[in-house]
Amino acid sequence: MLVVMQAHATEEQVRAVCERIESLGYRAHAMPGAQRTAIGITGNRSEVEAGTLEEMPGVQELIRVTKPYKLVSRDVKDENTVVRFAGADATIGGRNLAIIAGPCAIESLDQAMAVAERVSRAGAQFFRGGAYKPRTSPYSFQGLGEEGLRIMAEVRDKYGLKIITEAIDHESLELVEAYADVIQIGARNMQNFSLLKRAGRSKKPVLVKRGMSATLEEFLMAAEYVMSEGNYNVILCERGVRTFADHTRNTLDLSIIPAVQRLSHLPIVVDPSHGTGKRNKVTPLSRAAVAVGADGLIVEVHNDPDKALSDGMQSLYPDQFDELMAQVRQIAPVVGRTVVGVGEHRQDSAIAV
Ligand code: PEP
Ligand code: MN
Repeated sequence: MLVVMQAHATEEQVRAVCERIESLGYRAHAMPGAQRTAIGITGNRSEVEAGTLEEMPGVQELIRVTKPYKLVSRDVKDENTVVRFAGADATIGGRNLAIIAGPCAIESLDQAMAVAERVSRAGAQFFRGGAYKPRTSPYSFQGLGEEGLRIMAEVRDKYGLKIITEAIDHESLELVEAYADVIQIGARNMQNFSLLKRAGRSKKPVLVKRGMSATLEEFLMAAEYVMSEGNYNVILCERGVRTFADHTRNTLDLSIIPAVQRLSHLPIVVDPSHGTGKRNKVTPLSRAAVAVGADGLIVEVHNDPDKALSDGMQSLYPDQFDELMAQVRQIAPVVGRTVVGVGEHRQDSAIAV
Protein backbone atom coordinates (compact mmCIF):
# COMPACT_ATOMS: atom_id res chain seq x y z
CA MET A 1 0.00 0.00 0.00
CA LEU A 2 1.15 3.48 -0.85
CA VAL A 3 -0.15 6.72 0.62
CA VAL A 4 0.15 9.57 -1.84
CA MET A 5 0.19 12.95 -0.12
CA GLN A 6 -1.17 16.10 -1.70
CA ALA A 7 1.39 18.36 -3.36
CA HIS A 8 0.97 21.00 -0.67
CA ALA A 9 0.90 18.59 2.29
CA THR A 10 2.95 19.87 5.22
CA GLU A 11 5.76 18.05 6.99
CA GLU A 12 3.54 17.68 10.06
CA GLN A 13 0.84 16.03 7.98
CA VAL A 14 3.38 13.60 6.52
CA ARG A 15 4.68 12.88 10.03
CA ALA A 16 1.17 12.31 11.37
CA VAL A 17 0.40 9.81 8.60
CA CYS A 18 3.69 8.00 9.30
CA GLU A 19 2.86 7.82 12.98
CA ARG A 20 -0.61 6.44 12.27
CA ILE A 21 0.89 3.78 9.97
CA GLU A 22 3.39 2.76 12.66
CA SER A 23 0.66 2.67 15.30
CA LEU A 24 -1.15 0.15 13.11
CA GLY A 25 1.93 -2.05 13.43
CA TYR A 26 3.45 -1.38 9.99
CA ARG A 27 6.56 0.47 8.89
CA ALA A 28 6.26 3.84 7.12
CA HIS A 29 8.78 4.96 4.49
CA ALA A 30 8.30 8.59 3.50
CA MET A 31 9.78 9.24 0.05
CA PRO A 32 9.80 12.93 -0.78
CA GLY A 33 9.62 13.64 -4.51
CA ALA A 34 9.75 16.80 -6.58
CA GLN A 35 5.96 16.96 -6.92
CA ARG A 36 4.75 15.22 -3.78
CA THR A 37 5.67 12.86 -0.99
CA ALA A 38 4.60 9.23 -1.13
CA ILE A 39 4.67 7.01 1.93
CA GLY A 40 5.35 3.33 1.36
CA ILE A 41 3.89 0.89 3.88
CA THR A 42 5.81 -2.31 4.60
CA GLY A 43 5.74 -4.94 7.29
CA ASN A 44 2.27 -6.17 6.40
CA ARG A 45 1.78 -9.88 5.82
CA SER A 46 -1.58 -9.48 4.19
CA GLU A 47 -3.69 -6.58 2.97
CA VAL A 48 -2.96 -3.39 4.93
CA GLU A 49 -5.74 -2.46 7.28
CA ALA A 50 -5.77 1.14 6.07
CA GLY A 51 -8.32 2.29 8.62
CA THR A 52 -8.85 6.01 8.53
CA LEU A 53 -5.62 6.87 6.69
CA GLU A 54 -7.49 8.09 3.65
CA GLU A 55 -9.33 10.69 5.72
CA MET A 56 -6.23 12.22 7.27
CA PRO A 57 -5.29 15.82 6.41
CA GLY A 58 -2.90 16.12 3.46
CA VAL A 59 -3.65 12.64 2.07
CA GLN A 60 -4.55 12.53 -1.60
CA GLU A 61 -5.07 8.83 -2.21
CA LEU A 62 -4.18 5.30 -1.19
CA ILE A 63 -2.82 3.03 -3.90
CA ARG A 64 -2.48 -0.72 -3.72
CA VAL A 65 0.97 -1.79 -4.90
CA THR A 66 0.63 -5.09 -6.67
CA LYS A 67 4.30 -5.56 -7.53
CA PRO A 68 6.39 -7.56 -5.05
CA TYR A 69 8.85 -4.68 -4.72
CA LYS A 70 7.55 -1.41 -3.40
CA LEU A 71 10.27 0.97 -2.22
CA VAL A 72 12.52 0.41 -5.24
CA SER A 73 9.61 1.08 -7.55
CA ARG A 74 8.81 4.22 -9.49
CA ASP A 75 5.29 3.90 -8.11
CA VAL A 76 6.66 5.16 -4.80
CA LYS A 77 9.13 7.66 -6.23
CA ASP A 78 9.07 8.74 -9.82
CA GLU A 79 12.27 10.82 -9.92
CA ASN A 80 15.64 9.14 -10.19
CA THR A 81 17.48 8.66 -6.90
CA VAL A 82 20.77 10.50 -6.74
CA VAL A 83 23.16 9.18 -4.10
CA ARG A 84 25.14 12.08 -2.64
CA PHE A 85 28.17 12.27 -0.38
CA ALA A 86 28.61 14.90 2.28
CA GLY A 87 31.25 17.46 1.44
CA ALA A 88 31.91 16.02 -2.02
CA ASP A 89 30.96 16.72 -5.59
CA ALA A 90 30.70 13.06 -6.50
CA THR A 91 27.22 11.61 -6.99
CA ILE A 92 25.79 8.35 -8.28
CA GLY A 93 22.67 8.64 -10.38
CA GLY A 94 22.94 12.29 -11.35
CA ARG A 95 23.73 13.78 -14.73
CA ASN A 96 27.37 13.12 -14.12
CA LEU A 97 28.56 9.55 -14.71
CA ALA A 98 29.94 7.87 -11.60
CA ILE A 99 33.35 6.45 -12.45
CA ILE A 100 34.55 3.82 -9.99
CA ALA A 101 37.95 2.28 -10.61
CA GLY A 102 40.65 0.40 -8.75
CA PRO A 103 42.17 -3.03 -8.29
CA CYS A 104 40.19 -6.19 -7.67
CA ALA A 105 41.93 -6.57 -4.31
CA ILE A 106 44.03 -4.28 -2.18
CA GLU A 107 47.43 -5.96 -2.09
CA SER A 108 49.70 -3.35 -0.50
CA LEU A 109 49.87 0.37 0.21
CA ASP A 110 52.20 0.90 -2.75
CA GLN A 111 49.92 -0.96 -5.14
CA ALA A 112 46.80 0.90 -3.96
CA MET A 113 48.49 4.30 -4.16
CA ALA A 114 49.96 3.59 -7.60
CA VAL A 115 46.54 2.65 -8.98
CA ALA A 116 44.73 5.47 -7.16
CA GLU A 117 47.10 8.08 -8.55
CA ARG A 118 46.37 6.95 -12.09
CA VAL A 119 42.61 6.46 -11.87
CA SER A 120 42.17 9.74 -10.04
CA ARG A 121 44.19 11.56 -12.70
CA ALA A 122 42.08 9.89 -15.39
CA GLY A 123 38.85 11.20 -13.84
CA ALA A 124 37.50 8.56 -11.44
CA GLN A 125 35.73 9.94 -8.37
CA PHE A 126 35.47 6.58 -6.60
CA PHE A 127 38.14 4.03 -5.72
CA ARG A 128 37.22 0.34 -5.57
CA GLY A 129 39.28 -2.44 -4.00
CA GLY A 130 38.53 -5.58 -2.07
CA ALA A 131 39.77 -6.07 1.47
CA TYR A 132 37.55 -9.13 1.91
CA LYS A 133 37.48 -11.28 -1.21
CA PRO A 134 34.86 -13.96 -1.81
CA ARG A 135 37.10 -16.44 -3.68
CA THR A 136 36.00 -19.68 -5.30
CA SER A 137 39.00 -21.45 -3.78
CA PRO A 138 39.85 -21.26 -0.09
CA TYR A 139 43.52 -21.35 -1.13
CA SER A 140 43.31 -18.15 -3.22
CA PHE A 141 44.21 -14.74 -1.80
CA GLN A 142 41.40 -13.77 0.57
CA GLY A 143 42.24 -10.08 0.94
CA LEU A 144 44.13 -8.07 3.55
CA GLY A 145 41.11 -7.59 5.81
CA GLU A 146 41.17 -4.51 8.02
CA GLU A 147 44.66 -3.62 6.80
CA GLY A 148 43.15 -3.28 3.31
CA LEU A 149 40.48 -0.95 4.68
CA ARG A 150 43.12 1.19 6.38
CA ILE A 151 45.00 1.46 3.08
CA MET A 152 41.83 2.60 1.31
CA ALA A 153 41.26 5.23 3.99
CA GLU A 154 44.75 6.53 3.17
CA VAL A 155 43.85 6.61 -0.51
CA ARG A 156 40.79 8.71 0.32
CA ASP A 157 42.90 11.10 2.40
CA LYS A 158 45.49 11.51 -0.31
CA TYR A 159 43.37 11.64 -3.46
CA GLY A 160 39.91 12.61 -2.22
CA LEU A 161 38.44 9.51 -3.86
CA LYS A 162 35.35 7.98 -2.26
CA ILE A 163 35.89 4.36 -1.24
CA ILE A 164 33.76 1.38 -2.32
CA THR A 165 34.57 -2.00 -0.87
CA GLU A 166 32.84 -5.31 -0.31
CA ALA A 167 31.48 -6.74 2.93
CA ILE A 168 31.17 -10.51 2.78
CA ASP A 169 29.51 -11.16 6.14
CA HIS A 170 28.21 -9.39 9.24
CA GLU A 171 31.65 -9.18 10.79
CA SER A 172 33.29 -7.53 7.80
CA LEU A 173 30.28 -5.26 7.32
CA GLU A 174 30.89 -3.68 10.73
CA LEU A 175 34.40 -2.74 9.65
CA VAL A 176 33.54 -1.83 6.06
CA GLU A 177 30.88 0.60 7.21
CA ALA A 178 33.34 2.25 9.57
CA TYR A 179 35.97 2.85 6.86
CA ALA A 180 34.22 3.00 3.49
CA ASP A 181 31.90 5.46 1.76
CA VAL A 182 29.90 2.76 -0.03
CA ILE A 183 29.31 -0.83 1.12
CA GLN A 184 29.43 -3.35 -1.71
CA ILE A 185 27.35 -6.51 -1.54
CA GLY A 186 28.84 -8.97 -4.01
CA ALA A 187 27.11 -11.14 -6.57
CA ARG A 188 27.54 -14.22 -4.39
CA ASN A 189 25.73 -12.49 -1.54
CA MET A 190 22.88 -10.91 -3.49
CA GLN A 191 20.46 -13.29 -1.82
CA ASN A 192 22.12 -13.32 1.59
CA PHE A 193 19.03 -11.79 3.11
CA SER A 194 20.39 -11.31 6.60
CA LEU A 195 23.42 -9.45 5.18
CA LEU A 196 21.14 -7.29 3.00
CA LYS A 197 19.05 -6.41 6.05
CA ARG A 198 22.15 -5.56 8.05
CA ALA A 199 23.31 -3.28 5.21
CA GLY A 200 19.86 -1.73 5.29
CA ARG A 201 20.46 -0.68 8.89
CA SER A 202 23.69 1.09 7.94
CA LYS A 203 23.94 4.82 7.30
CA LYS A 204 26.27 4.25 4.33
CA PRO A 205 25.07 3.80 0.74
CA VAL A 206 24.97 0.21 -0.48
CA LEU A 207 25.97 -1.08 -3.93
CA VAL A 208 24.19 -4.35 -4.69
CA LYS A 209 25.72 -6.48 -7.44
CA ARG A 210 23.44 -8.70 -9.47
CA GLY A 211 23.65 -12.39 -8.58
CA MET A 212 25.05 -14.66 -11.26
CA SER A 213 21.66 -16.15 -12.05
CA ALA A 214 19.36 -13.46 -10.71
CA THR A 215 16.30 -12.40 -12.65
CA LEU A 216 15.35 -8.74 -12.82
CA GLU A 217 12.77 -9.27 -10.12
CA GLU A 218 15.20 -11.07 -7.79
CA PHE A 219 17.72 -8.27 -8.35
CA LEU A 220 15.17 -5.61 -7.44
CA MET A 221 14.03 -7.62 -4.42
CA ALA A 222 17.61 -7.63 -3.11
CA ALA A 223 17.56 -3.83 -3.21
CA GLU A 224 14.12 -3.89 -1.61
CA TYR A 225 15.60 -5.83 1.34
CA VAL A 226 18.09 -3.03 1.96
CA MET A 227 15.48 -0.30 1.58
CA SER A 228 12.93 -2.09 3.74
CA GLU A 229 15.27 -1.52 6.70
CA GLY A 230 15.32 2.23 6.08
CA ASN A 231 18.45 2.69 3.94
CA TYR A 232 17.29 4.34 0.73
CA ASN A 233 20.74 4.98 -0.74
CA VAL A 234 21.01 1.89 -2.87
CA ILE A 235 22.93 1.53 -6.13
CA LEU A 236 22.42 -1.47 -8.41
CA CYS A 237 25.25 -3.01 -10.40
CA GLU A 238 25.02 -5.25 -13.46
CA ARG A 239 28.10 -7.52 -13.53
CA GLY A 240 27.13 -10.27 -15.92
CA VAL A 241 25.27 -13.52 -15.51
CA ARG A 242 26.16 -17.15 -16.23
CA THR A 243 25.20 -18.41 -19.64
CA PHE A 244 26.46 -21.08 -22.06
CA ALA A 245 28.78 -18.52 -23.66
CA ASP A 246 32.40 -19.42 -23.07
CA HIS A 247 34.14 -16.57 -24.83
CA THR A 248 33.62 -14.42 -21.73
CA ARG A 249 33.66 -15.11 -17.98
CA ASN A 250 30.04 -13.95 -17.69
CA THR A 251 27.53 -12.51 -20.12
CA LEU A 252 27.13 -8.81 -19.49
CA ASP A 253 23.40 -8.21 -19.70
CA LEU A 254 23.18 -4.59 -20.77
CA SER A 255 19.51 -4.95 -21.59
CA ILE A 256 18.81 -4.92 -17.87
CA ILE A 257 19.76 -1.24 -17.70
CA PRO A 258 16.67 0.13 -19.47
CA ALA A 259 14.59 -2.63 -17.86
CA VAL A 260 15.64 -1.49 -14.37
CA GLN A 261 15.24 2.17 -15.25
CA ARG A 262 11.69 1.61 -16.38
CA LEU A 263 10.68 0.04 -13.08
CA SER A 264 12.97 1.63 -10.53
CA HIS A 265 14.25 5.04 -9.50
CA LEU A 266 17.53 3.56 -8.23
CA PRO A 267 20.80 4.25 -10.05
CA ILE A 268 22.44 1.36 -11.87
CA VAL A 269 26.12 1.07 -12.79
CA VAL A 270 27.87 -1.51 -14.97
CA ASP A 271 30.91 -3.66 -14.14
CA PRO A 272 32.45 -4.61 -17.50
CA SER A 273 35.43 -6.26 -15.75
CA HIS A 274 33.61 -9.13 -14.05
CA GLY A 275 31.04 -8.91 -16.84
CA THR A 276 33.56 -10.06 -19.45
CA GLY A 277 36.56 -11.36 -17.52
CA LYS A 278 38.82 -10.28 -20.36
CA ARG A 279 40.84 -7.11 -20.50
CA ASN A 280 40.34 -6.62 -24.24
CA LYS A 281 36.56 -6.51 -23.85
CA VAL A 282 36.37 -4.05 -20.97
CA THR A 283 36.64 -0.83 -22.98
CA PRO A 284 34.17 -1.81 -25.73
CA LEU A 285 31.61 -2.89 -23.13
CA SER A 286 32.20 0.31 -21.15
CA ARG A 287 31.33 2.30 -24.24
CA ALA A 288 28.20 0.23 -24.70
CA ALA A 289 27.22 0.59 -21.04
CA VAL A 290 27.40 4.37 -21.22
CA ALA A 291 25.51 4.39 -24.51
CA VAL A 292 22.71 2.24 -23.07
CA GLY A 293 22.23 4.71 -20.24
CA ALA A 294 24.12 3.30 -17.25
CA ASP A 295 24.67 5.74 -14.39
CA GLY A 296 28.32 4.81 -14.09
CA LEU A 297 31.06 2.22 -14.48
CA ILE A 298 33.00 0.11 -12.01
CA VAL A 299 36.26 -0.99 -13.60
CA GLU A 300 39.21 -3.03 -12.37
CA VAL A 301 42.58 -1.35 -12.95
CA HIS A 302 45.95 -2.60 -11.74
CA ASN A 303 49.41 -1.05 -11.93
CA ASP A 304 50.88 -4.47 -12.76
CA PRO A 305 48.01 -6.75 -13.84
CA ASP A 306 50.30 -9.64 -14.74
CA LYS A 307 51.30 -9.92 -11.09
CA ALA A 308 47.84 -9.20 -9.61
CA LEU A 309 46.76 -11.51 -6.79
CA SER A 310 43.25 -11.69 -8.22
CA ASP A 311 41.51 -10.97 -11.53
CA GLY A 312 44.66 -9.85 -13.36
CA MET A 313 43.24 -11.07 -16.69
CA GLN A 314 40.40 -8.59 -16.58
CA SER A 315 42.29 -5.69 -15.00
CA LEU A 316 43.20 -2.80 -17.25
CA TYR A 317 46.67 -1.28 -17.40
CA PRO A 318 46.46 2.36 -16.29
CA ASP A 319 47.14 3.55 -19.85
CA GLN A 320 44.18 1.51 -21.05
CA PHE A 321 42.00 3.13 -18.40
CA ASP A 322 43.08 6.55 -19.73
CA GLU A 323 41.93 5.48 -23.16
CA LEU A 324 38.64 4.10 -21.78
CA MET A 325 37.97 7.46 -20.13
CA ALA A 326 38.80 9.35 -23.32
CA GLN A 327 36.25 7.25 -25.20
CA VAL A 328 33.60 7.46 -22.49
CA ARG A 329 33.99 11.24 -22.40
CA GLN A 330 33.02 11.31 -26.06
CA ILE A 331 30.02 9.06 -25.72
CA ALA A 332 28.59 10.55 -22.52
CA PRO A 333 27.28 13.83 -24.04
CA VAL A 334 25.47 11.87 -26.77
CA VAL A 335 23.25 10.42 -24.05
CA GLY A 336 23.04 13.64 -22.07
CA ARG A 337 25.66 12.77 -19.47
CA THR A 338 28.85 14.44 -18.31
CA VAL A 339 32.13 13.11 -16.94
CA VAL A 340 34.18 15.09 -14.48
CA GLY A 341 37.33 14.42 -12.57
CA VAL A 342 38.26 15.01 -8.95
CA GLY A 343 38.77 18.68 -8.23
CA GLU A 344 37.10 19.78 -11.44
CA HIS A 345 34.08 21.95 -11.09
CA ARG A 346 31.03 20.38 -12.60
CA GLN A 347 29.88 23.59 -14.24
CA ASP A 348 32.92 23.97 -16.46
CA SER A 349 33.29 20.31 -17.09
CA ALA A 350 30.53 19.92 -19.63
CA ILE A 351 32.50 17.95 -22.13
CA ALA A 352 33.12 19.49 -25.51
CA VAL A 353 33.15 16.96 -28.30
C1 PEP B 1 34.30 -7.58 -7.01
O1 PEP B 1 33.73 -6.56 -7.44
O2 PEP B 1 35.46 -7.58 -6.60
C2 PEP B 1 33.58 -8.87 -7.06
C3 PEP B 1 34.01 -9.92 -6.38
O3 PEP B 1 32.53 -8.84 -7.87
P1 PEP B 1 31.28 -9.84 -8.03
O4 PEP B 1 30.64 -9.92 -6.68
O5 PEP B 1 30.44 -9.15 -9.06
O6 PEP B 1 31.84 -11.15 -8.51
MN1 MN C 1 37.56 -8.90 -9.11
